[in-house]
Amino acid sequence: MIGLRCARLFDGDTLHHGPATVVVDGGRIVEPSDDVPVIDLGDVTLLPGLVDAHVHLAFEPGSDIPRDMAEAPREVVLERMRVHAMRALRAGITTVRDLGDRGYLVIEARDGLPLGPEILAAGPPITSPGGHCWFLGGEVPADRSALVDAVTERVERGVDVIKIMATGGGITPGSAAHESQYDLDQLRAVVETAHAAGLPVTAHAHGGAGIRDAVRAGVDGIEHGTFLTADGAEPDWATIDEIIAAGVHIGVTAGRMPNGNPLSPKVIAARSFLADVRRKGARLVCSSDAGVISDKPHDCLPHGVPEFQVFTQDSTVSVLTSVTRLAAESCGVGHRKGRIAPGFDADLLAVRGDPTVDLAALTDVAAVFRAGTRVDN
Ligand SMILES: [Zn+2]
Repeated sequence: MIGLRCARLFDGDTLHHGPATVVVDGGRIVEPSDDVPVIDLGDVTLLPGLVDAHVHLAFEPGSDIPRDMAEAPREVVLERMRVHAMRALRAGITTVRDLGDRGYLVIEARDGLPLGPEILAAGPPITSPGGHCWFLGGEVPADRSALVDAVTERVERGVDVIKIMATGGGITPGSAAHESQYDLDQLRAVVETAHAAGLPVTAHAHGGAGIRDAVRAGVDGIEHGTFLTADGAEPDWATIDEIIAAGVHIGVTAGRMPNGNPLSPKVIAARSFLADVRRKGARLVCSSDAGVISDKPHDCLPHGVPEFQVFTQDSTVSVLTSVTRLAAESCGVGHRKGRIAPGFDADLLAVRGDPTVDLAALTDVAAVFRAGTRVDN
């Protein structure tokens, strides 16, 4: 048992000013106690370890992903996944949800990396033949029984979440992001099968029709949620009201390195209504989509949080919740991740300064703890 002393503590929802000591035992946070040895971490803010709810450990940022995924040998991809996972962990990202790898390699990475971040795995995303990210090996025809079989296969492989490409996407040649890949009835078959097996479903969805159908099918999360059209972005407020009423999380994949490539006009259009979406009460999670482009190395999440705040016009405290408590809830691990409270996993991030005053402090890492063990920097 050990106490970790900090100058300030953000518990996942609230910043507590003044010194605090968090007591850790056996990988968990326990009730405060006076009779434990204490490590003084100094003038730091202690936060729950960050949760990146959308990453691709298999993707090499900046590579030609369709080609690389077709050609890279299995051992190369697997080793790369380990490197990427450790890079995330050292930045204080103690949980990553991998929403698309090649051929279930993520299961091996997850189960073979005991000192890494906790990895939640989707396996190859379910996608239509030739559809978005088809090269990851998850092509399934738009047919109910084929989709049920695809979910069952993933359940048997031991995934933590089902990921389906409800619409096309940007990195796949020939795929149109605003067009649907499956209809409502087919999406329902996926959700019903996954839920019957106790697994959540998150849907990659850019186009308004795909987002609407996914929400009506009962998905637990929407990735991107950009409401892209053929030439811009146009929010459908009726669907946004349905998302809010259903409590569905929207993974705004905003994490990226600052001073990178300028955002495309379509992305800027898609971000322009986020503040209104947030004001209406949507659960917006700041995630990264790490790996897909050069601006998104696997430790980019904390670097993108200030820009996420610009889009959402939310308070710094609320924005910090969107990468901790809310992100953990969106991944189905909100009962043990994303908060500093007795009973929660001792996944902790200590940063110099006060990120509620300046979100850039989130990248000034003083210490990271994963399940109570200090991560070597
Ligand atoms: Zn992605």
